[in-house]
Amino acid sequence: MKLKPLKQYICDSCGKLIEKPEDGWWEYLHDTKTDLVSGFRIVHHRVQCMYRGQELRHKNKMVGDLDLNSMLASGGFGHMLHWLELSETRKLSLRIEITEFTEIMRRLYLPYWEEARQYWEQAFSEGFHDKCGFSENDLKSIIAEYGE
Ligand SMILES: [Zn+2]
Repeated sequence: MKLKPLKQYICDSCGKLIEKPEDGWWEYLHDTKTDLVSGFRIVHHRVQCMYRGQELRHKNKMVGDLDLNSMLASGGFGHMLHWLELSETRKLSLRIEITEFTEIMRRLYLPYWEEARQYWEQAFSEGFHDKCGFSENDLKSIIAEYGE
């Protein structure tokens, strides 16, 4: 799927295009028993696509969320780093699922990642890249080679 960098996303719930940040929503789950934060997602800002907070509460999960526009701003970036630091230094009891966290950071702040990630594994398995290059040119070349 063709995407405008850092403006358009693929919804983690319905798999369809989020056309503009205003239509998007960022969310995660906080497990109140283990204090693990995971389930980071970018979805459409509509009930069919968002986590169902009521149902999840019965499974000891609390939904955290914010509008996508705020997450994409520099304040969102700063907040995520602050959160990561507090978690890693144990100044906060919450622990962050780090692989999911780094992936949501790439999606939110790394130009062309959201589009290139669709082809990332295939391109790697075919020797097109070594999973170390994240420059705009690297990602654009993956898109040019594998995108429709
Ligand atoms: Zn959706």
